[in-house]
Formats: sequence, C-alpha cells, structure tokens
Amino acid sequence: MSTDNLTAVLHGIEDLRLEQRPIPEISENDVLLAMDSVGICGSDVHYLVNGRIGDFILTKPMVIGHEASGVVVKLGSKVKHLTVGDRVAIEPGVPCRLCTHCKTGKYNLCAEMVFCATPPYDGNLTRFYRHPADFCFKLPDHVSMEEGALLEPLSVGVHACRRAEVGLGSVVLIMGAGPIGLVTLLTAKAMGASVILITDLVQNRLDVAKELGATHTLLLNKNDTAENTASIIHKMLGTDPDKSIDCCGAESTTRLGIFATRSGGCCVIVGMGAPEVKLPLINALAREVDIRGVFRYCNDYSAALALVASGAVNVKPLITHHFDITETTKAFDTARYGHGDAIKVMIHVLPRNTNNN
Ligand code: NAD
Ligand code: ZN
Repeated sequence: MSTDNLTAVLHGIEDLRLEQRPIPEISENDVLLAMDSVGICGSDVHYLVNGRIGDFILTKPMVIGHEASGVVVKLGSKVKHLTVGDRVAIEPGVPCRLCTHCKTGKYNLCAEMVFCATPPYDGNLTRFYRHPADFCFKLPDHVSMEEGALLEPLSVGVHACRRAEVGLGSVVLIMGAGPIGLVTLLTAKAMGASVILITDLVQNRLDVAKELGATHTLLLNKNDTAENTASIIHKMLGTDPDKSIDCCGAESTTRLGIFATRSGGCCVIVGMGAPEVKLPLINALAREVDIRGVFRYCNDYSAALALVASGAVNVKPLITHHFDITETTKAFDTARYGHGDAIKVMIHVLPRNTNNN
C-alpha cells in the first residue's frame, strides 16, 4: 500500500494546508478507507473563514471534510458486515453509544459525539482514513462515490422532512435553495409532498430548484416584511403550507416560516443563524404551530441511501464542480465565493470515476 497520505489540514483562519499525515492504525471494530470523494459543506468554509461555529472553536490543526465516501482497504478483526473492496458512504458522526440519548436512539443529541471536522475532531479530506465500520454504509454498484458523499447532506434533508412529518399530499414551504434546501426539496417530494414552494434571494438557485421538482418558486424581496411575504405565499398557493422548513437560518426566514405555516402545522428550523433571534412566538402559540429544531441526522443514512439507490431521489444535479485533492484551495475558493454558480463542490481524492461503474 502507498504511504502517501496527503491530507487537507486547517491550521487556523485562512490557513488551509495540504500535508502528509501518518496512515492511521485501526482497532477491531474499524475499517481503514481509501478515500474517494469529499464534498465541501458550508461549515467547512465557515471554519476556514471564521475559525469557529458557535461554541465549536478551532484551537489546534484539524483535518477538514465530512461529506465523504471511500473504499475499504483494511478490516478490523471484529468487522462482519463489510469486506475489503467495499465502496461505502461514511456517516461522519460517531456518538458515545452509552448515554441516555444514545440508548434511546437519539444519538445525534449525544454530548460526546465525535464528528468529523468539528473541533477538536479530524475530518476525512485525506487519502487514508479510519472509521468505525458500523458508521459505514455499503453502496450498491450502481450508486456512484459522489452520490455516496452526498448522502451526508441528503440525510439532513431526510431528518428535516421526518421532523416535519412530511407525507402524502403535504404542502411544504422551504426557505433557502442552497444544498440543504435542495436536498430537503428532493426528500419532501419523494415522501409524497404534492406542493413545494421554495424561496431564495438568488434566481439561479430557484431555477435549479424548479428543475429538481419545486412546484413553486419565490424570489424574496429583502425589504418585504415576513407577514407580507407570507400573504404572497398564501395567494400563490391558494392555501397555507402545513409544513415549513427553514434552510437559511436568517431571522427573516424563520419569521416567515412561522407566519406562513397553517394553524396546527409545523415549522422546522434547519438553518443556523444568530444564536438569538426575534420571533412571533405568540402568533405560533395562538395558532398551535409547532416549532422544531433539526440537528444533523439520526438513523437517516440508510433511508437516504435507499432514496438514491431506488432512483426516488437524484442528487447528481447538485454537483456543479469537481476538483482533485491537490486543488483543494481552488475548490474551497469556488465553494466560498460561489464561482460559476457553484452549488456542491466535490473533491476527488482518487481520480474521478476510479471506483464508479
Ligand atoms: P447555503 O448558504 O449554501 O444556502 C442558503 C441559501 O439561502 C442560499 O441559496 C441563500 O441565497 C439563501 N438565503 C440567504 N438568506 C436568505 C434570505 N434572507 N431569504 C431567502 N433565502 C436566503 O447553505 P446550505 O449549505 O444550504 O445550508 C443551509 C443552512 O443549514 C446553513 O445555515 C447551515 O449552517 C445549516 N445546516 C444545518 C444543519 C443542522 O444540522 N441543523 C446541517 C447542515 C446545514
Ligand atoms: Zn451518547
């Protein structure tokens, strides 16, 4: 096996370097993966630019990347469900497995979560990476490694739609047509939503949303009030959405979600904005609009994989750019500045299609 373990390490704000790291040793329940594809997420860019997200602060060098897929090259002695050569998607957060949240199945809430590229834990934009085997999902031959990497954001969409209880005939409002808004749109459609209106400030993103199956799009006017925008949405739909899913996290979009949602409906917040925001809580209270948060995902990876493998969801149009790991800086610039109308930027650790049929 090669000893080249080129790795993208974030040393501090605006200081992302490619350097060699030792190839990790594995323990009995792990696999060693030859990494294939790693998507760039908004949070990766955020750590590069700000060095922190909320209370997660970069205090020492950290390997970046967490939307990833790889191929098993070495097996721990106790690993039963995988074999060398398997192509897998990597669920990047590994919980403690022992606390009440873990034991009751809400492991995304585990306080001891070890999550790739969330300080202080290393991510997986590297050639060789160790991961617990039970957080690796074997990809069928017809699912590409890039699609495997995209199961990460797709799982956020699955979790959001499950939290919103999207179902047959749901009328869904989605704020934000970035990667998270778009995977939420795809999932809502697959879960049976009949009407999906998506909003953004950028027309090009709404055009993509339309191609992906949004029934309605609305270019928001930043100066309009949330109440007024809600009434525009009600007129456009001829009804009130029973679910709204905020995939922006701007105060204005969260307010819009509350005002727009039907009485007795559900307003889910995925976007992470300012830690404190002004919301019309009495309006929500008096109309029994439930407000629910979403934190990553929990037991959602297998559903995300099933959606892709069955063809119910096509995530491929989200990938707008491809780079080799040696071009990591350029890839981050593209994601950061949205060059070329970038939506999802994919980094290839191995030459593209090495592991695709
Ligand atoms: P993104 O920045 O690519 O997309 C956000 C979209 O919202 C953009 O298209 C932008 O034009 C649009 N937008 C911004 N302000 C707006 C406004 N006032 N009104 C309407 N549209 C507006 O980000 P993304 O990768 O799609 O992620 C979306 C959000 O979800 C981010 O806040 C991210 O931190 C969060 N997120 C949360 C979780 C979670 O577990 N809760 C997981 C992943 C991402
Ligand atoms: Zn736990």
